[in-house]
Amino acid sequence: MRLSHTRKVFMLSVLLIMTGLLGQAAAAQTTAKPATTTAEPVSSAVVPSDPPSSAGPAPSKPAPSKPAPSKPAAVKPKPATNAGRTESTTTGKGHKQRTNGPARSITTTGSAGVALTFDDGPDPAYTPQLLKMLAQQHVKATFCVVGTNAKKHPELIRAIVKQGHTLCNHSWNHDLKLGKKPAAKIKADLERTNAAIRAAVPNAKIRFMRAPGGNFTPSLVKMSKKLGMASLYWQVDPRDWDHPKGESAGDHRKKIVKIVQKHTRPGSVVLSHDNAQPDTIAAYKTLLPWLRHRYRLVAL
Ligand SMILES: [Zn+2]
Repeated sequence: MRLSHTRKVFMLSVLLIMTGLLGQAAAAQTTAKPATTTAEPVSSAVVPSDPPSSAGPAPSKPAPSKPAPSKPAAVKPKPATNAGRTESTTTGKGHKQRTNGPARSITTTGSAGVALTFDDGPDPAYTPQLLKMLAQQHVKATFCVVGTNAKKHPELIRAIVKQGHTLCNHSWNHDLKLGKKPAAKIKADLERTNAAIRAAVPNAKIRFMRAPGGNFTPSLVKMSKKLGMASLYWQVDPRDWDHPKGESAGDHRKKIVKIVQKHTRPGSVVLSHDNAQPDTIAAYKTLLPWLRHRYRLVAL
């Protein structure tokens, strides 16, 4: 009995050891398996991210890694609205967007397109006339509006946006010394103007700011940028606001036409005014067809 008992114990312990060993081995296998299975999803998670960029040529693995970084680089500038626009226009057919205005403000479109910009409105008498003309000629332009006028004529802000033109902040009340004011005052002025525009068109895109008189300062440019607006100067200025003594309306019109025709180049940003400048509107009756046949007219 005793012997058989010890035998049994021995046998049992041998069995236990054996099953223990087997169990360990099995455990080792199962732990090893998850290790490989977890390793697989990781590698397979990496793989799918590669194919979209490589798509066709699978064997050339270094190739897919190259396009991948270049893609985010192309996407990167987009979130920053201004940089995105600068980037997209700069890459257009070798035309570099020039920023040689005051405080490095923009002077050219960055493409072969010519941008017509109209300042100081909206004006209840002349903005509708201009809008009608632009629509008839299928031309998109950019309107640099004054906050007080935007507040007075929300219907014109709506018409500008509805026709697909671009909006630009031209300060609340055309303060020529805005750029020299403290940053907080600049901010308040720009925000008040944008609020007046957006009271007419909620969520309106306002990608540009133009300093009254073109008087950009580094602090005005910086604040505009902070508020999502690029600082827009110009390249061609027909001085349509300047009425020298003795100049007839006809001569004034001819002057505007002559200067624009003489100085506009591919990529030019042209400055004009749609506020209280009837001769400007008349001049554009001649200029619009002339420009259209020579240039691609673009909204910024
Ligand atoms: Zn102005």
